[in-house]
Amino acid sequence: MSEAWAGGSTRAWRRTRLFVLNRDRWICGLCGFAIDPLLEHPHPMSASVHHIRGKKYGDDPAWLQAAHRKCNMDVGDPNNQPDPEPRPMTEW
Ligand SMILES: [Zn+2]
Repeated sequence: MSEAWAGGSTRAWRRTRLFVLNRDRWICGLCGFAIDPLLEHPHPMSASVHHIRGKKYGDDPAWLQAAHRKCNMDVGDPNNQPDPEPRPMTEW
């Protein structure tokens, strides 16, 4: 429940999410396999919507794609990645 709110789960978002899932015909855009609409949220293969370019691009369906929850989590949000470790400069 708290996770849903953290993700900004409003009625508008639920409608957008469903729109994206239907548009993509419940096919995961990340692994290409079907998403079972009967699986519910905590299930790793349940329906999820992937923010292709990260959440900072908002909830425009153009930047959203249907994905399994697990696939979505494997990819993550590119804008939430920690900065790469700075490489130590080796001077010769
Ligand atoms: Zn998938």
